[in-house]
Amino acid sequence: MATLQAVTGMNDLLPGDGQGARWQRLEAAFRETCGRYGFQEVRTPLCEYAELFHRSVGEATDIVEKEMYTFDDRGNRRLALRPEGTASAVRAAIEHSVLARETVVRWCYLGAMFRAERPAKGRYRQFHQVGAEVYGDDSPAVDAEVIDLASSFLQGIGITKFTVRVNSLGGAETRARYRDALIAHFAPHRDALSPESQSRLERNPLRILDSKDPRDLPFKAGAPSIVDALTDEDRAHFERVKEFLTALGTPFVVDPSLVRGLDYYTRTVFEIVDTSGALGAQDALGGGGRYDQLFTELGAPKPVPAFGFALGIERLLLAAPVTEEKKPFRVAVVAVAKPDEHATHAGVLGLARELRTHGVETVVDTRFGSMKSQMRRANDLAATVVLVLGSNELASGQVSMKLMATGEQRSVARASLLDELAQLQRAAAATGAP
Ligand code: AMP
Repeated sequence: MATLQAVTGMNDLLPGDGQGARWQRLEAAFRETCGRYGFQEVRTPLCEYAELFHRSVGEATDIVEKEMYTFDDRGNRRLALRPEGTASAVRAAIEHSVLARETVVRWCYLGAMFRAERPAKGRYRQFHQVGAEVYGDDSPAVDAEVIDLASSFLQGIGITKFTVRVNSLGGAETRARYRDALIAHFAPHRDALSPESQSRLERNPLRILDSKDPRDLPFKAGAPSIVDALTDEDRAHFERVKEFLTALGTPFVVDPSLVRGLDYYTRTVFEIVDTSGALGAQDALGGGGRYDQLFTELGAPKPVPAFGFALGIERLLLAAPVTEEKKPFRVAVVAVAKPDEHATHAGVLGLARELRTHGVETVVDTRFGSMKSQMRRANDLAATVVLVLGSNELASGQVSMKLMATGEQRSVARASLLDELAQLQRAAAATGAP
């Protein structure tokens, strides 16, 4: 029988320092950074009505046109595995009238996203993002503060070689004017453009600027700049964002060609690219921007200004330095007992449970083999301390304690065991051992 495998482009995450532990540390660092900036975590379903993404991300985007996992459920409703997090979070905020209770909402999220892309290093079909969103505040200070959050999070996890690129797409008026200017620019060269750009010319000409097709490059180079199409208000907003970023000491470069692939952005957009070379072709760590019209487009009773970003966890881990985690303080409890001496086994399980209740990480080799094999297992699990328990110890309220680093062995009264372990744990933390 053929062995079953995971779906192409979807990865298992195994425990251990190489994978699982790094993920956990990254997620913890993100939650911690967001907490410091006043964000609270929201969790939305992995699956939504497909219409949500058609109306938010946009019909003429790669994500919706080519990459979305859509399917009909048993009730023939068209569903989609979420390709990104913003649309779901906005849907949830509207559905639960969150902005009727709070004037400004700061949400963050972590989770799996799905896009049927061609798998490559840093590009998967199930991937994971961390993201943060602010609703109800149209101040340029929000744009700057959230970009600063993203960049200080990166620094916090040891990623230092990156560039923050910012641009402004303006509001509805700017977008309409710029759209016309782009169509006027590209239309005379229609036949020379890539088929993809030809099809985008009327539907979404901004996306032509995102194209990496060599046939489009010569015409992209001379395209009008959105900066020239900004209204006075849009321009003033963008100027403030740049001033605030400078005041915060967050380095950035202005990139007038930055448009991003999603339809819902207005005014500020930004992208963070890794410059260490660790990511190869997929060097975008993440990005985001302002989306002041999305709430009304998704049916909110009144407009709600919003700003957000997402970063890809897999790419962050490719870019972040691998740091070795300090070994935990771990206790192994070992039985000296014959195979059928169940009372002693029960005593070992009981002691382990007691220690765990008091917050001590404790392992037991529940196969209860020979003392030697239990000791070997304790060693494999890198136990700091081994406690040996037999019928004598159970009767006398003592336990034999062995420190694995030095081999030192002594008898300890059960009553003072927790204090002794706490002392050893403090000493281990202070010296950086074990
Ligand atoms: P986007 O929503 O396309 O702006 O993506 C934001 C970030 O998510 C990207 O910069 C990547 O870090 C990550 N990302 C997007 N698509 C993928 C993918 N297929 N595989 C891995 N990471 C991805």
